[in-house]
Amino acid sequence: MQLLVLGSGTAIPHEMRGASGYALRADSGEVLLLECGPGSTRRWPGLGITFASVRAVLVTHHHVDHCSDLAAVMFGRNVVEGGADTPVTWLGPRGHARHLEGLERVYGSSVREASGERVVVELADGDAHRVGPFELQAREVLHVEGSIGVRVRCDGRTVAFSGDSGACPALVALCRGVDLALLECSYPAARPTTRHLNTTTAARVAIEAAPSLVVLTHFYPSCDDVDVEGEVRAAGYNGPLLLARDGLVVEVGTSPPVGQERRV
Ligand SMILES: [Zn+2]
Ligand SMILES: [Zn+2]
Repeated sequence: MQLLVLGSGTAIPHEMRGASGYALRADSGEVLLLECGPGSTRRWPGLGITFASVRAVLVTHHHVDHCSDLAAVMFGRNVVEGGADTPVTWLGPRGHARHLEGLERVYGSSVREASGERVVVELADGDAHRVGPFELQAREVLHVEGSIGVRVRCDGRTVAFSGDSGACPALVALCRGVDLALLECSYPAARPTTRHLNTTTAARVAIEAAPSLVVLTHFYPSCDDVDVEGEVRAAGYNGPLLLARDGLVVEVGTSPPVGQERRV
């Protein structure tokens, strides 16, 4: 399984970082999209993602920087020849079905599922769901009400994704002992935060959960001004660490981790 980074940034426009977008690609080639932030679909061709390969689309909460390309995916499936042939499961937090219905009301038939039936699964704390080769478990994390983080098992490997979250026991449990923990790290240490992580609290979660590899992401522009890795190390985390950048591809479970940049 591979982790693909489509966007390692936030809602704030940044020259090098797009808004939230990630994907897990199984050995079979099937793709689980994690978040669908604005412009993240623009990254698909460079990373080899196609409508035929996308088996499921998950968003962790309904902040725009995580979900505004949902309509682009819904629309694209209908305009690309054969785009709607692969059945897609739409995964999200409580209220996700209503959110997608709202997009259909705004954009009309162009974003309706061609088959007439959209498969939507809402995940709350403790819920599990399997789609294709991906086995998901959700935990409610500390961000906005209903925000989830997920743990995904596939090809004998496990990845945890924080979504947006402050440090909390559910996030530690989600990341405990996984092959790769993809953790948001919104801010430098100098900016305290409870509903996001900064370099200090991300380090604390990493120390407690002890995953085999930590990948930090979701960097606000203020992170450009500091040595992010240096701050994480100063906070006591000494384990394997990668800082996400757009186009990064990580082979999950390889040791030492293989991280390659692709031009996207
Ligand atoms: Zn958010
Ligand atoms: Zn966010």
